[in-house]
Amino acid sequence: MTIDAGDRGVVRARLEWLRLMGIEDLPRGPRQAAAPRVVGPSPGRPAPGGPPTGPDRPGAARAAGAAPVVQVGLFGGEEVVAGSASSRPGRRGMGEAVAEGTPPLAAVRAPEAPDAGTALRLIREEIGDCRRCRLCEKRTTIVFGVGSPGARLMFVGEGPGVDEDRQGEPFVGRAGQLLTKIIESMGLERREVYIANVVKCRPPENRTPLPDEIATCSPFLFQQIAAIRPRVLVCLGTPATQTVLGTRATITHLRGTLREVGGIQVMPTFHPAYLLRNPGAKKEVWEDMKKVMALLKTEG
Ligand code: URA
Repeated sequence: MTIDAGDRGVVRARLEWLRLMGIEDLPRGPRQAAAPRVVGPSPGRPAPGGPPTGPDRPGAARAAGAAPVVQVGLFGGEEVVAGSASSRPGRRGMGEAVAEGTPPLAAVRAPEAPDAGTALRLIREEIGDCRRCRLCEKRTTIVFGVGSPGARLMFVGEGPGVDEDRQGEPFVGRAGQLLTKIIESMGLERREVYIANVVKCRPPENRTPLPDEIATCSPFLFQQIAAIRPRVLVCLGTPATQTVLGTRATITHLRGTLREVGGIQVMPTFHPAYLLRNPGAKKEVWEDMKKVMALLKTEG
């Protein structure tokens, strides 16, 4: 069987995510083989977007003050690159050859399309009435994403909650209202940005999506990101950050430090649901958003 370059990127992203999560065995055989066995640690249900309860990688770089650019490796290699644009490595397009140790996102291409809006429609069509993982069993609606295909700012959350599952739009519940306030405080309107989640179907009881569910669904998120190519991608909470950066480090270690993946600036910050429970952390998120606003004023 031959697969084209776009599909190869998607498959590679999925395999790399599985490997990152400790899944080494994949069943061979017919295409409809059972979901891969999870042999690695399961993250459990940490407070979404808050300090970690899951596995952590010691020694993750933490910036103080100004925001350096950090290049992130898939299996723990993380290198701080001097912050000036001129000292950054050349901008790499998504889907080009990437070295081992690169987050899966960087390997994924958007579908061939004349514009981002069409590419997003093709991705949605590809998802179809998805039954690729168990999350389809309890969902009401697939929550694909919302906003401008030309957005320079994109937010990624974890997965739909009960309100999103009913309405088919991400971040419309209490956490969503707080996210909307954050966006408006940045001088933007919600319709100007793009908002999506790592998984498109609501996990039962709002649990954290499991590694194999993330592995199945995240290639679609990566394609959405590749189609939009935002200037800045804000990851809300641990699952979004781990998925986009291809790391096991948690939000406490990563928040506030910009990283570059496939030419996109990635800012990890706390999830709005965490802020609802811990309003004191809002000031840290605001610090992060100030860095994002500064970047949005720059070319790229
Ligand atoms: N939390 C998320 O992570 N995503 C949503 O869409 C809503 C709440």
